[in-house]
Amino acid sequence: MINNPIVNDFLVQIVAPEDLKNIKAIIQALIDGIETDEAIHEKTDIKLNTVRKLLYKLHDASIATYKRNKDPETQWFTYTWKFDKEEYVKEVTDFYTERLKEREDLLDNLENNLYFVCCMEPEHFKGDYTESSEYEFYCPVCDYELEPYDAKKEKSLLKRRITIDKKNFKKFEDSIQE
Ligand SMILES: [Zn+2]
Repeated sequence: MINNPIVNDFLVQIVAPEDLKNIKAIIQALIDGIETDEAIHEKTDIKLNTVRKLLYKLHDASIATYKRNKDPETQWFTYTWKFDKEEYVKEVTDFYTERLKEREDLLDNLENNLYFVCCMEPEHFKGDYTESSEYEFYCPVCDYELEPYDAKKEKSLLKRRITIDKKNFKKFEDSIQE
């Protein structure tokens, strides 16, 4: 449920890439029923400060919740954490669905429209017929001519990403049932 490329892509929106391994270990600890920052720290060997920081990131992303309790003897506050599986599945699913739609729309556009790029430096300009005609088919950056864009590579890359994503999401869905 957490070892999936789609989950990785989703989680690096919440934490920096260097925290990916740690946040996955923390989620796993929560799934295993470990409830406090101290216990997670002991179980995972991740620095206590980092555990706390990442727990709050999960909380901000609504995939973990906490309860604050006052110890009647010491008067100290303790926090017990819980993983919100339902919300997690929803967030990952939304992330996947949105990205899939973006890629399918992009593919659709490439298949149904002719694009033009700068003949000297494709980075300068890329636009559909209407946009390109506004510049009379000359690059707005360097004034060299625009030429028809060969979308073959970009289309096959998009198709591959869409296929892989669908396969990985299927795996994710299967893993939820376990
Ligand atoms: Zn140019």
